[in-house]
Amino acid sequence: MSIEVKNVTKIYGKQKALDDVSFKIDPGHIVGFLGPNGAGKSTMMKIITCFIPQSAGNVSVCGYDVIESPIDVKRQVGYLPEHNPLYVDMYVKEYLDFIGGVYKIENRKARVKEMIDMVGLEIEQNKKIGALSKGYRQRVGLAQAMIHDPKVLILDEPTTGLDPNQLEEIRGLIKDIGQEKTIMLSTHIMQEVEAICDQTIIINKGKIVADDKTADLQQESKSHLVLKVEFDKTTTIEALKKIEGVNRVKQAQENTWVFEIEKDNVRNNIFQFAVQHEMVVLTMQKESQSLENVFKKLTT
Ligand code: ADP
Ligand code: MG
Repeated sequence: MSIEVKNVTKIYGKQKALDDVSFKIDPGHIVGFLGPNGAGKSTMMKIITCFIPQSAGNVSVCGYDVIESPIDVKRQVGYLPEHNPLYVDMYVKEYLDFIGGVYKIENRKARVKEMIDMVGLEIEQNKKIGALSKGYRQRVGLAQAMIHDPKVLILDEPTTGLDPNQLEEIRGLIKDIGQEKTIMLSTHIMQEVEAICDQTIIINKGKIVADDKTADLQQESKSHLVLKVEFDKTTTIEALKKIEGVNRVKQAQENTWVFEIEKDNVRNNIFQFAVQHEMVVLTMQKESQSLENVFKKLTT
């Protein structure tokens, strides 16, 4: 097991930031840690990386306990913190060399070069970190996190603040790295986990509300279809509820209704209903069904 979190609670003063959190991450996976702001993502990541201690429960990384064997844990873990604190006055190479020194890496010069190649910093390698774009700073952050060749990478919102091109580049890079390492990345963007993660753990208000293969969560979201239908006349919610296959109905506007349905073919029943009641269906729109809906349902 790469990461094992058992019944972890974290209390800041009077606030419970994590409440009895448990999950496991197997080696070789890219796992998305998804949740709204303030859900407890960064807190969990700081505990896994030995930056802060939990109030209760146990956490181990590659079999090492974070409280009992923090040095061993740190050897196995690379960490990209949320606000990627880089030394802006240092040069890229100088900074990576410095981090290599902290980890007492042998053959430092060669390793720094290797990291620069791996994350695509060749062109920027002689610049000061302060002069780099956000996308390139994230690359420096990734290089820093991987310089000691850890088995596990913890990336806290690695793509926040990037423009669409940078976003794609960094996601591609994370996917590549994920072929060799176990990665846990936090995000509040559902599309991100759909794009790169094979397992998704959703956290809300300090509690785990879902933990599944991303594909299974997507499948689940597809089985709850939502239709937005506009008729030309008014009708009643009671009448609409009787349509076969309709689970729930909500009025969106005067003549516009939102249906939660079981199967796609319920659309036929809605058309037939309209005909029987001498109404016309002006528009029928399938709402995009993605992890986003699962996320919304679980976190609101
Ligand atoms: P996320 O990363 O999901 O946005 P955080 O783990 O940063 O969430 O925060 C979870 C909750 O704990 C928030 O309500 C936050 O205000 C609170 N919190 C985080 N760090 C501290 C701290 N050092 N002291 C007090 N409260 C904190
Ligand atoms: Mg955070």
